[in-house]
Amino acid sequence: MTTDNLKPCCDSCGGLELIPIGIPLGTQLGASISWCSSCGLLQSFYSRRPQSRHAPSVSSNANWGNIRHGKGVRVAAIDSHLRRIIPESGPFRVIDIGSNRGDLCKWLISRNPDISITAIEPDRSITSTYADHHQITLLHGKLEEFSIEKLGNFDLVVNLHSLEHARSARSMLLMCAQLLVDNGLLLVEVPNAEIIRSEDIVEEFFIDKHSFHFDIHSLQNLFDQSELSFQYLSSTDTHNITAICSKASTESGILDEIEIDAFTGSFKPILPDEFGVYQERVLGNRNRLKSVAQRLKNLAERQSVAIWGATRLLDALVVHGGSEPNRFTVIDDYLSGHISDVHGVRVESSDILNHVEVDVVVILARSSESEIRTKARTLGARHIYSFRELFADS
Ligand SMILES: [Zn+2]
Repeated sequence: MTTDNLKPCCDSCGGLELIPIGIPLGTQLGASISWCSSCGLLQSFYSRRPQSRHAPSVSSNANWGNIRHGKGVRVAAIDSHLRRIIPESGPFRVIDIGSNRGDLCKWLISRNPDISITAIEPDRSITSTYADHHQITLLHGKLEEFSIEKLGNFDLVVNLHSLEHARSARSMLLMCAQLLVDNGLLLVEVPNAEIIRSEDIVEEFFIDKHSFHFDIHSLQNLFDQSELSFQYLSSTDTHNITAICSKASTESGILDEIEIDAFTGSFKPILPDEFGVYQERVLGNRNRLKSVAQRLKNLAERQSVAIWGATRLLDALVVHGGSEPNRFTVIDDYLSGHISDVHGVRVESSDILNHVEVDVVVILARSSESEIRTKARTLGARHIYSFRELFADS
């Protein structure tokens, strides 16, 4: 965001004191990250424009993106939150901003046969599986290209992993608030910038696709600026902030009927000097990946090893650890079908474990680690290691 004289300002509070804190690793867009001294928002500014269409990338650097599989992962992860909000029957109007491959739309229809959904998605190439469903009105474009009058009002506005991509996060939230009926709810999920404090981080968090990087503190400030009342949904998943809000003027309604853990403010906001510490740690950890890769190599010499998770952790192991992925069966249920191979190795669905004998499964995933572990056990895997465990021992 810029002011009229093109001086950058904070998208959330309009503050002009933006402190540059660093350059993301491997940025393709000349990104630099600034921290707002007033509200703590971390914002990317770019010196190069993106090309009109990027190739999908599973990179562990800032150029990760364009795979468009993330929403399926998240709908599964917030299933219990959705069930608390959405009735099992009766008319209920939902707008899904960035409907992607339709994972949420399909979930909503299976939940409530009377539901009506407006789905907004700019990319026509990924909407064919739900475009013609009679309960879905699909609009191609970005939210900011439509008028509130055209879209109408909704009982629930869903904004899963769109806010961080917006041209202006504040404008997007204001528009979301306008789309709500009285007592309507807004469900928002964004990546949690607190992840930069993880001891074992090897992936660049500040990717080129994200213009905004929120912690709970800066997200709460943004909700305040947008006159939305923010309630933090408790979550076991530290990689994402999942929040429910209502219009600040709402006095009663569905919020009274569901239990929401009010955010208590017991965490530390991210401060500008943490960026340097984080980046040093990423570089140091990438160096340690060489011993993780060696351990995997030793394992694969004695036994048949499947790697489950073919995105950023695998990329980091190959690029920075020197791991050779053709030694392993590579599995990724979300990626298979969208991308054929990673680092020259075919990406399989987990069905392959019904046909191929595997001694050891190595989980290269973070927020979906426990889901994968459960699935791997169901499919008969007896020896399972996570990246977390391997890294801690290296
Ligand atoms: Zn600010």
